[in-house]
Amino acid sequence: MKRVLVLGSTGSVGQQTLDVLRGLRDSFDVVGLSGNSNSAALVEQAREFRPSAVAVACDVPEQTVSSDLARLKIDLLSGPDSLVELIRRFEPQIVVQAVSGAAGLPSSIATIEQGARLALANKESLVMAGHLLMPLAAEKGAEIIPVDSEHSAIFQCLQGCPDRSTRRVFLTASGGPFVDTPIEELRKVTPAEASQHPTWDMGGKITIDSATMMNKALEIVEAHWLFDLDPSNIEVVVHRQSIVHSMVEFADGSILAQMGIPDMRVPIRYALTYPDRPALSKDFFDFDRWSKLTFEPPDRNRFGALDLGFEAARRGGAHGAVLNAANEEAVDLFLKGLIPFDEIFNRVSLVLDKTKDIQSPTLEQILKADQWAREELARCY
Ligand code: NDP
Ligand code: MG
Repeated sequence: MKRVLVLGSTGSVGQQTLDVLRGLRDSFDVVGLSGNSNSAALVEQAREFRPSAVAVACDVPEQTVSSDLARLKIDLLSGPDSLVELIRRFEPQIVVQAVSGAAGLPSSIATIEQGARLALANKESLVMAGHLLMPLAAEKGAEIIPVDSEHSAIFQCLQGCPDRSTRRVFLTASGGPFVDTPIEELRKVTPAEASQHPTWDMGGKITIDSATMMNKALEIVEAHWLFDLDPSNIEVVVHRQSIVHSMVEFADGSILAQMGIPDMRVPIRYALTYPDRPALSKDFFDFDRWSKLTFEPPDRNRFGALDLGFEAARRGGAHGAVLNAANEEAVDLFLKGLIPFDEIFNRVSLVLDKTKDIQSPTLEQILKADQWAREELARCY
């Protein structure tokens, strides 16, 4: 039995992780869960999975959570540091990192420091501090297995390939809900419209990022760190059907693609069970349904966010952290109805332009840059 912690278990990836774990009860023991504001779901999950402890990121969990967990004899840890405490106290072999946003970084670092496998959905950890996480993982012998579907695809394509044989990677992107919307109409797009993803069912913030393609921008930086790729060797391809999850082109011109129906449970399961692929009794892929797959270059006027991703990857330093933090704040303003949709890109771009170059920033400098970007974005507004 492998001891596994699921951080962000109440979210979209977290819930799907628990769904995967329901089917793998003979191999995995869920020793801890974490949530933030959705205490009812967290207690329900704790009742079902009976972990040793549960962490709630907010400082004061609801009274009913403490009493419900006490009745179940499950420890309750609370506060922003409680996720790290959970990792240190229960020494899991695998941590599924499904917290959203910059809040995931400390627990990603703590996982690597323990030498545990980091099944990483929280791309923000790498976007902010890939230059710290990757060498730390090598030093501690910790595996980082991507859960993000594109990066899982690349990771799978690279299995068994000789080092330095990769020429380019192609990150696929569905194009989101506005791939065909006239650019001048993007200003009028509402949060409800931007929250409708054509092919994936995801958490609120990442769905907006898919509409702006800021998600792909973050994924460019994520791929740059995870696979040690020069940004000039990363391409983005619009693939509306979301069947091919990404591709690798090798030095000999061969291209490997990983494909399957869009279902996050596939990369989650792979990150948990890698290098095994335990059987799953499911429907077979249906070529009648998916008889036509299309690939197009992205329209760079519509999706300017891609340029920001390439720039952040190229310039390094604190640029990834700034890109991420400014975008988190801009998305928040958009969802509150305070800025129009196309201002997300405009304002993030302004903040990124003002970012100072820092060589190999420390964690403290990264967190400072994150804070600066949030304040700067608020000033833009
Ligand atoms: P959700 O918003 O659905 O879930 C986020 C989770 O993080 C919830 O459990 C939430 O708790 C918790 N959380 C929120 N804020 C904090 C905080 N400050 N401290 C600790 N925990 C917190 O997000 P998703 O599941 O969509 O995404 C999770 C991560 O996975 C993101 O980094 C995203 O980019 C990445 N990802 C998601 C994909 C998807 O299909 N959804 C695909 C690929 C990557 P609560 O709900 O209790 O408030
Ligand atoms: Mg993705």
